[in-house]
Amino acid sequence: MLKVRARRKKHNMRVAAAFDLLADRGGKHADEHRKRAAKLRKCADALDIIDVPDDQGGVRTKLRAHYNCNLRECSISQAARRQVLGRYAADVFATAYAANPSLRFIHGTFTVPNVTGGLLSTTITRMNRAFERMVHSDDWKVVLGSLRALEVTYSHERKDFHPHYHCFLVVDGTRYFSKQYDDYKSHADWKKLWERSYRHDGLIVDVRVPKPKRSEDILGETLKQVLKYPWKGATYEIKTADGTIADPDVIETLHLALRNRRLYAFTGILRDAAQALKAKHDVDAVDPPLPGDGDVMETWDDNPADIYPAPDPNAEVILAVTPVRYQPPTAGQPADYVFDERTLSTNKDPENDQTPR
Ligand SMILES: [Zn+2]
Repeated sequence: MLKVRARRKKHNMRVAAAFDLLADRGGKHADEHRKRAAKLRKCADALDIIDVPDDQGGVRTKLRAHYNCNLRECSISQAARRQVLGRYAADVFATAYAANPSLRFIHGTFTVPNVTGGLLSTTITRMNRAFERMVHSDDWKVVLGSLRALEVTYSHERKDFHPHYHCFLVVDGTRYFSKQYDDYKSHADWKKLWERSYRHDGLIVDVRVPKPKRSEDILGETLKQVLKYPWKGATYEIKTADGTIADPDVIETLHLALRNRRLYAFTGILRDAAQALKAKHDVDAVDPPLPGDGDVMETWDDNPADIYPAPDPNAEVILAVTPVRYQPPTAGQPADYVFDERTLSTNKDPENDQTPR
């Protein structure tokens, strides 16, 4: 749990250094970049290891961060948000499934040609419009609802960006997979539909129908595929003579292209179900707040079933608190968290917390 968090914190610190480099360059965003760097450094710097009762009368441990920056560039905050969204999407699907048990889902990936950084933002706008066209086409009528997530990867070799959508598509299984109806779509059909919507030929489309096994497992695994990070460390990190750093130019391009954009969107019955649940979690917003303060179990990376753990009835009962603080990697020692009693006195958000996201 701490090791996963420390590894994410290491990426988070590299991004903070990149924002400082961007601030050093000056320009109209310099002040905001400097504030972002400070927020990233503070995020999950101090943690509490909390002992709470488990369901069997024993004790289990959780991690609680003192401060969550909630920035899109932060691997810790994004992991927490992704977990919340995964749990929420599972809730939304369960609500829709309760109304119609013949629902089945499909994992679709819709890509466009790679672009240079200067074209990333306009390309994402074009993708959003294309997706809207696709959703409103006759061919889409077999899709009862969808969850769409944007991911952007970067190639350091080619120096270009690869934006694409991961989609969770819900169909009526008894119709979609039956020869009696005309609902079924081959890979070629999906490809043609996306090409027509994006108005470009030769696009790569990947459509998978998860093999039937335990449906909760498939749901969790598919959601995990769909709800990847908007971007990952490998996308923005480069090896230099001084070690691995986050490439400030890539960070800036991603930041400017994706800020104020909705990265996840529901349609159809999933949007209806989402609206019904929206009072509970507002994850559909452009920059949704996280419940709690980074109070997240980190284990679900290893176990897809943990993507939407049941609410913890004992969440408020805290048996013991051990404060720890991030320790950057040194020669021979990986990044880690170590015991630190100073954290007991700094359990507050920064006063001047007005950085735009
Ligand atoms: Zn953060």
